[in-house]
Amino acid sequence: MSGRPDVVVVGAGLGGLLVASEVARRGGRPLVLEAGPVAGGVTVTARDSGYLLEPAAGSFLLPHAHLTPILESVGASVVPAEAVAHRRFVFDRGELFELAGPAALATRLVSGRGKLRLLREPWVRSPATITEESLRSFLQRRLGPEAGRMGATLMAHGVFAGDPDRLSARAAFPAIVALEDAAGSLVRGALARRRTRSKDAPRARVHVAPGGTAGLVADLAAPLGNDFRPNWPVKSVHYDGDSWIVSGRGEERTPAVIVALAPAEAARIVPGPFAPLLNEAHAAPVAVVGLGGPEADLPVPTGFGALTGPDAGLRILGLLFESSYAAGRAPVGHRLLKGIYGGDADPAVLALADDDLVALAIEEAGRILGEPLRPSWTRVIRHSPGIPQYNVGHAAWLDRLNRVAVEYPGLHLAGWGYRGMGVTSLAQHASALAERVLAAP
Ligand SMILES: Cc1cc2nc3c(=O)[nH]c(=O)nc-3n(C[C@H](O)[C@H](O)[C@H](O)COP(=O)(O)OP(=O)(O)OC[C@H]3O[C@@H](n4cnc5c(N)ncnc54)[C@H](O)[C@@H]3O)c2cc1C
Repeated sequence: MSGRPDVVVVGAGLGGLLVASEVARRGGRPLVLEAGPVAGGVTVTARDSGYLLEPAAGSFLLPHAHLTPILESVGASVVPAEAVAHRRFVFDRGELFELAGPAALATRLVSGRGKLRLLREPWVRSPATITEESLRSFLQRRLGPEAGRMGATLMAHGVFAGDPDRLSARAAFPAIVALEDAAGSLVRGALARRRTRSKDAPRARVHVAPGGTAGLVADLAAPLGNDFRPNWPVKSVHYDGDSWIVSGRGEERTPAVIVALAPAEAARIVPGPFAPLLNEAHAAPVAVVGLGGPEADLPVPTGFGALTGPDAGLRILGLLFESSYAAGRAPVGHRLLKGIYGGDADPAVLALADDDLVALAIEEAGRILGEPLRPSWTRVIRHSPGIPQYNVGHAAWLDRLNRVAVEYPGLHLAGWGYRGMGVTSLAQHASALAERVLAAP
């Protein structure tokens, strides 16, 4: 297609592709410029010897008000995960605990005293002024010291590979903080939210892309045709008084530009006043370790996976039972486990060489599962700069960014560095951005 696009999207990770697909779904024309040879950014699925290892997003919850319409509009192939995906585990103090809804209260993960305090949550008063506080401080205030410490560690490890004492509750888990804002209590807020949900609304369930997230990426990129341009690193984005000029392998003029890059990468190409602010953003490197092998050598329980609690005594943050909840991730008769290391939770572990990280993962996964593991296939994938850390100050940082952005109408920032780390958050933000871009005069 020739002529001027409605918007140029810089970066074809999931953040860029989702916003481009949403613009197209609403009748606009996006042009996507990607530095690398393929789309997908951090999510490019690794395939080897019949194993399919997701380095980043490997599952997401559907239906979702914003993600579902985008996926339907491009005909993306996504399927529900195996029914066992609802089984979640926590490893702490040498024991593996299964958590299943309210029955989780019956486990010994939290002491009797801790549970009594937990049950008092609806009556705990909120402070008169609520500032941006750490995830741990927020949850301990609401749930008590023991359950709060446990919950904060699991949420920080499971979503951000983060440090619960540094992550901002409000920026990292806005939906949970919103319950207190709305009802003065997490329990009362959750009950109120449930009452407003239609009885017929289907429950969100874990979904996966059968061809791996790389398949989903291909589904999102395909309808763009020649309006997806790989090997097109953008060098600068500036306004000439009439249009935005996106320069790299050539020049593209556009009324609006969406820079869907990690903040540190965005800082290199956007106008001056943004750069120092964007460079304040913090991301933490992580490593994904894949362990595969014949069933007899890799006793993987049925379920989604296990997170490690504050007293686990292990360096692994989470262990996903990949071949248990997602078909096709290991050859027939084989299994695949995925461990996550590093982040702000434990940056030092990433100094280990790949072989040592694999040895550590084999030993620690064996302790979690209670049996020695003998994988015949291993793989380490490292991400750097890694996972954005929405630490205390992130919400105020976003406000400061918004104030600068007011001076640059038509320039927008997207991707996992800002308003949500998962695919559903990216879709929600994509929807808001597409609306703004297409509504602009
Ligand atoms: C270990 C791990 C597990 C995860 N698990 C899940 C999960 O289960 N579910 C979930 O929903 N999410 C998960 N995520 C998060 C999810 O993968 C990310 O939110 C998402 O992939 C980020 O996409 P993005 O487009 O914002 O960034 P990126 O993937 O970093 O994309 C940015 C793109 O911009 C390109 N680029 C850079 N500079 C330029 C330039 N100058 N010009 C043009 N292009 C440029 C890059 O090449 C890249 O393709 C996980 C992440 C990690 C690391």
